[in-house]
Amino acid sequence: MDCIFCKIANGEIPSATLYEDENFRVVLDIGPASVGHTLILPKKHYEDVYELPDELAANAFCLAKRTANALKRGLHPEGLNILQNNGSMAGQTVFHFHIHLIPRYREDQIALSWEPGVLEESDKKKIIKKVREQF
Ligand code: AMP
Ligand code: ZN
Repeated sequence: MDCIFCKIANGEIPSATLYEDENFRVVLDIGPASVGHTLILPKKHYEDVYELPDELAANAFCLAKRTANALKRGLHPEGLNILQNNGSMAGQTVFHFHIHLIPRYREDQIALSWEPGVLEESDKKKIIKKVREQF
């Protein structure tokens, strides 16, 4: 399998690494949305969030928290988005699980917004019925 994030995470391709441990590499995104746009990459290949083992998922979010704090202390952004895309419809372009950390600055021109809909009572019941039993 030819996966660019496997190669970056395991050091086969050089990257702007901010942090590394046994299971993860934290790198600067090559096409940043803002100054300090960072990716958390597991060293093992999992395509998306659905495939992640529980322990890795827990550690990934813990590392996202540490990385958020490091970016906050180092770069002093005014906000920060944590984003994670699954499937091309959701904007995933590299099919190796990763978490984006996007520091936010005044007038950064990043658009991550939507027009809020209305949660109708009938939809609410249907959705709860369909999803609850899947846990
Ligand atoms: P996604 O659209 O969620 O799959 O995000 C993929 C991200 O990977 C994009 O933000 C790209 O800019 C970034 N990216 C792609 N190739 C590289 C690379 N070689 N090094 C660092 N970031 C990369
Ligand atoms: Zn991979």
